[in-house]
Amino acid sequence: MNRYIISTSILSADFARLGEEIAAVEAAGADWIHVDVMDGHFVPNITMGPFIVETCRRITQLPLDVHLMIEKPERYLEAFAEAGASGLTVHIETCPDLSGTLKQIKALGCRAGVVLNPETPVGAIQAVLPEADLVLVLSVNPGYSGQEFIPETIGKVSEIRRKLDALRSSAWLEVDGGIDVETLPKMKAAGATAFVAATAIFRHPAGAAAGVESLRDLL
Ligand code: ZN
Repeated sequence: MNRYIISTSILSADFARLGEEIAAVEAAGADWIHVDVMDGHFVPNITMGPFIVETCRRITQLPLDVHLMIEKPERYLEAFAEAGASGLTVHIETCPDLSGTLKQIKALGCRAGVVLNPETPVGAIQAVLPEADLVLVLSVNPGYSGQEFIPETIGKVSEIRRKLDALRSSAWLEVDGGIDVETLPKMKAAGATAFVAATAIFRHPAGAAAGVESLRDLL
């Protein structure tokens, strides 16, 4: 297994050519395919649901890293797991019983992830850190692709790194939002081990494969 993960968000992919786009990033060395699910409630935008996860599952063998920006995610975990999700990541802001939701995800055979918005303090997830297989730090406000990176989130990654190390946790520490050749090295230095990128890959001037390679070279 790679020590560092490139998780390619299809949010910026050309859906008319989704099969080709995923094949290109897979061939270029992407590790996971990241699926950004938005419901029009937790975030204003609406994107994709289990149907797209199922489509991705038929296209690629790569793990499907599903990020649920939705209210009441516990209602949909089974549908996403059945569609072929490998990991399900839920927002602390949407889960009154986060520990219970993480247990539900594990019972479905998926990697259980927790994500926090830029303004949510690390203390909010402290109690569930020992149970998380993945912690995702959102480095933009959730809702749209192509947003400006929030530099203050680098300190948040360092803080979570220290807490995970103190727990001797092997959880992935993932970052999502505005990750490109400028910001990736800063997040890596802060202790991140998995890097979600959408625009930097699918909008790379030389194509998606070159986008993956430009990030992979920095790891
Ligand atoms: Zn995401």
